[in-house]
Amino acid sequence: MKVLLVEDDAALAEALGTALGEAGMLVEQAATGGEADFLVRTERYDAVILDLGLPDGDGSRWLAEWREDAIELPVLVLTARTRWNDKAAGFSAGADDYVTKPFETAEVLFRLHALVRRSHGHAHPVLRIGELAFDTHSGSVTLAGRPVSLTAQESRLLAYLAHAAPRVVSRSELAEHVYDRDHEPDSNVIDVQISRLRRKLGTTRIETLRGQGYRLVDATT
Ligand code: CA
Repeated sequence: MKVLLVEDDAALAEALGTALGEAGMLVEQAATGGEADFLVRTERYDAVILDLGLPDGDGSRWLAEWREDAIELPVLVLTARTRWNDKAAGFSAGADDYVTKPFETAEVLFRLHALVRRSHGHAHPVLRIGELAFDTHSGSVTLAGRPVSLTAQESRLLAYLAHAAPRVVSRSELAEHVYDRDHEPDSNVIDVQISRLRRKLGTTRIETLRGQGYRLVDATT
């Protein structure tokens, strides 16, 4: 999962960025609305965490423009303001959810996971594809009830495929959502990591569709 964190308070941005990273997310950061706007329009994110009080204007201004331009990614608004008016402005601009500072990092994570899940059409916190279960909150994976140990990168790859399932995901889509923009891999690297995942999950669980990409399938059917 790749998240854009838009926050001008450097200490808060670093603390939250670190916590999100430890939770297995790829985090890119912007400290101004202008920077966020550029990134949202050029990169692919699974969600945006948006502070409203930014040095170059109110975050809801950019959010409203994104929605106007049919940019539909989930946006969690983060702000110190507690006045109802500001929350209303955030929601009116197109926010999906809201957290008021000071907040518990765990709450941000829970809300973020739920937003991303919902954006893929899932309500249950555990995504199941046959015997494979992926817990969207803890990131843990089980196969027929037995825990599977994955590296951080494998876990991100599987998380994306599990959210998208049964949709086919192209290599370029995987590259955009699962890897840092400064380290976007060539398709070889993705293929290698997919084969490592197959070794851990069983070879038939990830299907390759020639020229299209990968999808997770219920290998028991
Ligand atoms: Ca701020």
